[in-house]
Amino acid sequence: MAKAELTILHLFPELLNLYGDTGNMLVLEKRLAWRGMQAHIIPVSLGQSIDLSSADIVFVGGGSDREQGIVGEELVKHTADFKAYAKDGGVLLAVCGGYQLLGHEYSLGENKLSGLGLLDIYTVRKTPRLIGNIACTTELFSQDVVGYENHGGRTYLGSDVTPFARVLHGFGNDGASGFEGARANRVIGTYIHGPLLPKNPELADWLLSQALERKGLDPVLSPLDDTAEKRANEYAAKLS
Ligand code: GLN
Repeated sequence: MAKAELTILHLFPELLNLYGDTGNMLVLEKRLAWRGMQAHIIPVSLGQSIDLSSADIVFVGGGSDREQGIVGEELVKHTADFKAYAKDGGVLLAVCGGYQLLGHEYSLGENKLSGLGLLDIYTVRKTPRLIGNIACTTELFSQDVVGYENHGGRTYLGSDVTPFARVLHGFGNDGASGFEGARANRVIGTYIHGPLLPKNPELADWLLSQALERKGLDPVLSPLDDTAEKRANEYAAKLS
């Protein structure tokens, strides 16, 4: 039988890659390989075409406001394609700056960056920056979701989106609501860097399994020995 394969688009890695975000790609690749499956990781640089028709998972990392400005202009040109991808159950994970660009807009004082509108959220830059280790809980996973956050933006959720997780320690979306990230169908946005997936293997497997299911492949993933990952998760949770 042919090996199951997933195509993973990594958008603008040279611009959106804070706090090791690219490590998330290695985790997806390895967790597939350990199960006899193959990832095709496709880095997409600014100006290159974004072929969502072949994508099984899309990843967007975080970046500074300046880098978001550059990327945002390019991204919004593809709004219709991204909306169709999300509507079709496409899997997408976005971290921090990438998360903010999935919303309606990111407001930076005088300037406003338009987003893709895939998530019913909007973001406003405020001071102080919200910085530190973070731990959250979500009904999707047994372990807490842990990592590191550093953002000036405060993100507010509309009625068409659910929070990704609830903050146990740290700031999350706005430091006040108790919500972290946002989710609609298979699109997840979160403030958590770290990188996110090495310490949160349940989230990595959720993305893989959702992508396999959408592709009509067996979504049940064989268990892996996650002793090290779970210990890293517990250690990070203690830091928060
Ligand atoms: N520039 C955004 C902010 O400061 C996102 C930062 C990030 O991706 N860590 O809110």
